[in-house]
Formats: sequence, C-alpha cells, structure tokens
Amino acid sequence: MPELAEVEYVARQMRMSVLGARIAQITVAWPRTISVPDVPTFIQLLSGQVIEAIERRAKVLLIMLSNDLVLTVHRRMSGNVELLEAGAPPPRYERVRLNLTDGRAIAYSDPRKFGRMALYAGVDLPATLADFGPEPLDPEFTDEVLMKILASTPRAIKALLLDQHAIAGLGNIYADESLHAAGIHPLLPANSLSSAQIGALHAAIIKVLQLGIAHGGTTFGRHRGFYGEVGHNLEHLRVYQRTGEPCRTCGTPIVRIVVAQRGTHLCPNCQPNMHSCS
Ligand SMILES: [Zn+2]
Repeated sequence: MPELAEVEYVARQMRMSVLGARIAQITVAWPRTISVPDVPTFIQLLSGQVIEAIERRAKVLLIMLSNDLVLTVHRRMSGNVELLEAGAPPPRYERVRLNLTDGRAIAYSDPRKFGRMALYAGVDLPATLADFGPEPLDPEFTDEVLMKILASTPRAIKALLLDQHAIAGLGNIYADESLHAAGIHPLLPANSLSSAQIGALHAAIIKVLQLGIAHGGTTFGRHRGFYGEVGHNLEHLRVYQRTGEPCRTCGTPIVRIVVAQRGTHLCPNCQPNMHSCS
C-alpha cells in the first residue's frame, strides 16, 4: 500500500516530466474510481487543462490545473499512477486515463479498485484535507509538535502513528520501521514515552521516510514509480515483513504481533516492552 514515501516519489517524478502538459481527452473505464463530481462533469472539467503544479498531502497526490481545479489521487491499497509514452499499451487494470496533447498519457491502474480520484475547486482543497495531521517532512514538524501529539493519548504508539489525523502519511511499513529505528516497542502508550524517546522517534520518522523516497519507495506488492519501475526500499527495511529473520542491528529474530488490527514487526531486543517488566 503506497504511503507518504511512495506518493512523494511519484510526485517528484511527475514534476520532472508532465508539468506544463495539457490534458486532451479522458477515458474512465471504472466509473467508481471517480468520487466527485459525476463522471461526465469530471471529463468535461479536465479536458483541455494544463498541469501547473504537483503536490502531495499525506498519501494523496494533488495535481493543480490551469482552471484552478485540483485533481486528487488517493491510491489506497493498490493504485498506481504511471506515464505512458505515445503508443505504449495500457497497464493492466487501467481504470482512468488522461491522454495528453503531446501523445503521452497518464494512466491510473488499480486491481483492487479502492483508489479514488476527485476534482475540487482550489479554494475548497484546504477543507477537504483539513483532517490530516502535520506533515512529517515539513520543517514545522518539530520534536515539540510530536511531543504534544503523543501527550494527548494513552493509545499504543503504533496505532497513533497510523492515525492520519495525528500524523499524516505514515502507514504500516514506515510506522514499523520508525519504531525500530527509535528503539520503541509498538505497544507502549504514546503518552508514556520519555523526551529522549520522542526525540529519537522524531528523527527516525524523518529518516525512514527520506530513505524510502531516495530508494523510489517500497515495492511490497504493487507500488511502481511514474515510469513503471519497481521501488528498491524493500531490501533496506529492517523489520517490516522480516518475521523470524535476524534483526539487522542485533541479530535477534524479528517478531510479528498485531496492533490496531495490523501486523506489526519488531525486534524484542532493540524495542523492549518496558511495561511488561514492571
Ligand atoms: Zn535488534
């Protein structure tokens, strides 16, 4: 499932290749991919627009258009946004295609069909994104900001990291990796962490996301870059989906538990559950 790192990587690729491109014609093969407006209006409003900017908020890709509308793409479980060169065959499971006037196309494919695209007026965008917490790669996301978020709740730290209202963009992969890098057990209550642990977690979140982006994202499943390429972060992961394999820090076998109904991977040596010892 694409998280912040995967979406950010594709946003950066799109900035290098489709800024200034004009949308010619749109095909919608799976109408439910379009959440708002209705499909005929969606097609009518997109046709002829120039792609003026590409942004990201949380796990949502934002494509700013010349008519001051914003096309949002939320890939959810299995969606990919890919560039098709002129004459290239469509990807499998193509749901929506934006044909560009230069002959290329932007294809949205999604076998599981949970992903959604929507068109909003630019002025309405802040309201639609208002429920997301702070962006972890934003300079305003400081130790103090994280401390305030954690102090507000006794929920398990892993569950809080997955909560998009608390912090935007983290999913199962980067939450597990952040907690391992910070040496924090996923079940510890958020408001029980020391200031040293919070500082370590803050640094770890930023580090694992930046590494994920630098490696083109984690392809565990279906994520692809904008040019259809596999991301290489999987081989750099230290705990995620490594159950039974030796911890890359200390050699202890990685353990899988369930937190907030999600498979959670940890090293019991590097990430002691201090509360179970008391
Ligand atoms: Zn370890």
